[in-house]
Amino acid sequence: MAAPQHITILGATGSIGLNTLDVVRRHPDRFSVFALTAQRRRSELLTLCLEFKPKFAVLNETADAQWLANQLQPVNPSIEVLSGVAGLCAVAEHAAVDTVMAAIVGAAGLPPAFAAARAGKRVLLANKEALVMAGSIFMDTVQAAGAALLPIDSEHNAIFQCLPTEIQRREHAPQDRHGISRLILTASGGPFRTTPMSELFAVTPEQACAHPNWSMGQKISVDSATMMNKGLEVIEAHWLFGLPAEKIDVLIHPQSVVHSMVEYCDGSVLAQMGQPDMRTPIANALAWPERIDAGVARLDLPKLASLTFEAPDLQRFPCLKLACDVLRAGQAAAVILNAANEICVAAFLERRIGFLAIAETIARLLDQMSQPALRNLDDVLELDQLTRAATRQHLGLLTA
Ligand code: NAD
Ligand code: MG
Repeated sequence: MAAPQHITILGATGSIGLNTLDVVRRHPDRFSVFALTAQRRRSELLTLCLEFKPKFAVLNETADAQWLANQLQPVNPSIEVLSGVAGLCAVAEHAAVDTVMAAIVGAAGLPPAFAAARAGKRVLLANKEALVMAGSIFMDTVQAAGAALLPIDSEHNAIFQCLPTEIQRREHAPQDRHGISRLILTASGGPFRTTPMSELFAVTPEQACAHPNWSMGQKISVDSATMMNKGLEVIEAHWLFGLPAEKIDVLIHPQSVVHSMVEYCDGSVLAQMGQPDMRTPIANALAWPERIDAGVARLDLPKLASLTFEAPDLQRFPCLKLACDVLRAGQAAAVILNAANEICVAAFLERRIGFLAIAETIARLLDQMSQPALRNLDDVLELDQLTRAATRQHLGLLTA
């Protein structure tokens, strides 16, 4: 039997991280956990360390890292505990690592995802914000380092599964051959798909996070409610699959059974279907090109009365339009959109701003900020920081 894959899980305590560990747990012969990271949930990380016995654990703050090291000392002193961005990058690029699950939420996930790509790892990308922010810089790095990039986002994983093997293996770009005419991303429409527009100004974080089909982290749940998530996914699809904005469509599909589709020039449309359970795309990416059991319930098609599809209402979901416009505008606009959105979503979750202020603020920042050419990761991170500061100032959140 082949040696197990050594895996680093960035964001191990999150929704994707825990789902990844659930799949890994089912296949101890295939996968060995090399490193686990978390922002500040040190007790949860301790429990995971005791079960999976990684070589490294990483927390953001040195005090938390010290606490974890002290807890591990009597029971498993061989686990080394690191901290900060340097710790994240070290376990992402370590020579002993084969595969990196990039499942930190937001811009914070970019430096370690980038480190994994630069080190030529097999990168399982959940952290869509990294690709939105760094676009061609990220893809060029993947290419130059010979890294493998496997999408975890359910839509992109679905598209990946519907593409020919040569494209999956990145032997050539989709537009070169194979007659791909369009990508169709499906979207549930989130919790406010049918809420009267006049009530949207008063919706709460609890309502926004109560997604009808998926159980996810708070930030992506709010992004699903505004449909910024789908906008970020259009940008993500552009970079992953090399198709222009006008060949990437979005359809509302409230049942979340068809996870996305690829249309070919002969009229064929290939779809990937399954339960709304992230363990399917995670298992697909972990085992690709093989398939493994993911612990996911079978799809019971007769039980599903119907599958419906409709065009999104861009007046109801202005964030979706903003993101699609940004894809045409260029990389700096994408960084501004993403950074302003992260600040706005956090402010909404803290009840400092209303739901409708999210889109309004992002539009304002896109108008207001200058959009320089971005040549490398440092340029991206600098514009990200500038935008965060400008957004906080705009919202009157200077201390946030
Ligand atoms: P989550 O909030 O549940 O978990 C985030 C993880 O990242 C946690 O382990 C947290 O400790 C860590 N983290 C957060 N901020 C950090 C920081 N500043 N530094 C270091 N670590 C930090 O999020 P999630 O729902 O698992 O989403 C993770 C990523 O996957 C996001 O980019 C999201 O868009 C993407 N994604 C998630 C789902 C889903 O079903 N949850 C689906 C598709 C894509
Ligand atoms: Mg998705």
